[in-house]
Amino acid sequence: MSNNKKIHNFSAGPSILSEYAVEKSIEDLKNFAGTGLNILEISHRSKQFEAVMDDAARLVKEILGIGDDYDVIFLQGGASTQFFQVPMNFLKNKAVYTNTGVWASKAIQEAKAYGDVIVAASSKDSNFNFVPSEFEIDSSADYFHCTSNNTIYGTQMSDFPKCDIPLFCDMSSDIFSRKFDANQFDLIYAGAQKNMGPAGVTLVVVKKSLYNKTAERHIPTMLQYKVHAENGSMYNTPPVFSILVSKYNLEWVKMNGGLEGMEARNNAKAELLYSTIDSSPYFKGTAELNSRSKMNVCFVFTDEHKNLEEKFETACKEAGISGIKGHRSVGGYRASLYNALPIESVEALVNVMNNFNN
Ligand SMILES: *Cc1c(COP(=O)(O)O)cnc(C)c1O
Repeated sequence: MSNNKKIHNFSAGPSILSEYAVEKSIEDLKNFAGTGLNILEISHRSKQFEAVMDDAARLVKEILGIGDDYDVIFLQGGASTQFFQVPMNFLKNKAVYTNTGVWASKAIQEAKAYGDVIVAASSKDSNFNFVPSEFEIDSSADYFHCTSNNTIYGTQMSDFPKCDIPLFCDMSSDIFSRKFDANQFDLIYAGAQKNMGPAGVTLVVVKKSLYNKTAERHIPTMLQYKVHAENGSMYNTPPVFSILVSKYNLEWVKMNGGLEGMEARNNAKAELLYSTIDSSPYFKGTAELNSRSKMNVCFVFTDEHKNLEEKFETACKEAGISGIKGHRSVGGYRASLYNALPIESVEALVNVMNNFNN
């Protein structure tokens, strides 16, 4: 086996990036935008980096199809910081949440420090193996918060509720993966390291009209969205390299057909893998059929075939399949099919699944 055997990277996050983004970023580590300097050693106030920042924000707007009524900002602290920054800014009295997994639970936990939280629906009793679709949203609440894709359990919202109150969403693990109407949201956030770029930057998209609904409490300057928006995400030193790599990854999304192109690409991968699971005597999916995620595919051995786990894992390793171990709270396997993963990698996995016991 040669050292440069192709590795199929199914990691749940940080995760696979487009080769285009990686190659472009490596060039900028040597000679950034013709400066003769390394991107890591140049001021974020340089006109060359300001152009990167502007391009990144412009690409987000273009790909999502949103206009100047939205701010696009790049922050630090991960999606986990958004769990408290969101309610700190916008929870005055009460907010409605759905509890669809560990990340949603954490968001709920943090929000409780700022007001009343109404959990409109939860799938906790069945270890979050589905996304509830029937629930009421109290129209006197300050906002409704949901999680579009539950990374750990492999469940995904297929559509978003119409509601009279501001709609917020944690899209960390499926942003830019499919067509959706971004204009129905007042706030979207996403840690970059699943489907947008490397770790270290968090994308936040805020509808400008939301600022009028800011809670009247002390909010540290660094945690005010408007401050970051007014300063072009440069109120303080931004995570320059993470933003650069994200910008290149967004260029790649655009070159490959934007949301429509990504959706077609991701549908093909998910269909191939789910149909293999469903027709295999060895495996079964863990998520309910109508909640299945096209980003994270979770599966386990059927009870009578559990003894084959080791054999399967060895075969995966030999085929260069990396990162499919399931999250400890679900067990089994999780294949993450983020945008940049080529269908050839899914074909390699499916091939192992179909043949490892011959
Ligand atoms: C990974 C993940 C998070 C946590 O992101 P951090 O950037 O590590 O804070 C939150 N929500 C979802 C849906 C995730 O997949």
